[in-house]
Amino acid sequence: MDAERTQGTTKHVAANETDGFVYVNGDFCPARQATISVFDHGLLYGDGVYDTLMAWNGFLFKLDAHLDRLLRSCRAVKIEPPVSRNRLRDLFLETVARSRLRNAYVKCIVTRGTSPAPLLDPRHCTPGLVIFAVPYPASADPTKAKGVRAKITSIRRIPHDVIDSRIKSLNYLPFVLARLEAIEAGYDEALMQDAQGYVCEAPGWNVFVVHDGTVVTPGASILEGITRETVIEISTRLKIPCNVRAMTPYDLWTADEAFLTSTAGGIAPILEVDGRSIGDGQMGRICQAIVQEFRRMLESGEHGTAVTYGR
Ligand code: PLP
Repeated sequence: MDAERTQGTTKHVAANETDGFVYVNGDFCPARQATISVFDHGLLYGDGVYDTLMAWNGFLFKLDAHLDRLLRSCRAVKIEPPVSRNRLRDLFLETVARSRLRNAYVKCIVTRGTSPAPLLDPRHCTPGLVIFAVPYPASADPTKAKGVRAKITSIRRIPHDVIDSRIKSLNYLPFVLARLEAIEAGYDEALMQDAQGYVCEAPGWNVFVVHDGTVVTPGASILEGITRETVIEISTRLKIPCNVRAMTPYDLWTADEAFLTSTAGGIAPILEVDGRSIGDGQMGRICQAIVQEFRRMLESGEHGTAVTYGR
């Protein structure tokens, strides 16, 4: 796909600091003015992939790991991104720079795009590219760990033989329905099992438990989260044993500590699962140590790529 098409003409519009900035198929515009075609296969069929990053303190956290994951997702679903990896990297940085946000929630969506007829056939589509940087939601501040009460829901994760869980696709309906089920039952968040009944992850989060001083996280039927990878890295650094293995509901109900991890929410301790309090119902000692190191990493710009903000 030629880079020229999506690079297109760049409109120079003053950044609206409150709402953020968007790149859509070649143009930059303030968040509120961004539009895409109603015939985009991303909208019509959920036919696309995405990745979520965070700019913290003026640094894009683990930018290359996110780019790699996004491009692996594109490859897996056979969507050719409309720009090269280098151009994509520059566009991420430029979108954040134009937003003028030092703490931003950044998303890149690559869709199958539009075709001459709005039918399912993906062959004649021209891929679409959207990148946005909006203010980081205060409620999800990754440096402020908030406790959640979680429910193991009846909705299972899409089996990996239907869609490989490592693909970050636009098909999030099971996650949405699981969260709705949990909220309607009076909980904050859902925990989901895979087709075999193992607890694998939560809508938009990976899951960890702590048993007898060892941190455990599932390795199958999950999106391989960048925050999860960071927590594994921190555990090694803090000399906390860490195992990647299957997890049952029993492992959660009987855990000393449990927590969720994501770019959009940082590290959130789980204080209760299915009406059973975890540990003493407060954030545990090991989770606290990991959160502290994670905060330090974010604030210091470790693993961060500096955004160059214009004047
Ligand atoms: N699991 C799922 C299904 C997700 O959608 C996400 C993030 O969006 C995660 C886990 C956490 O991944 P990351 O830490 O890279 O944000």
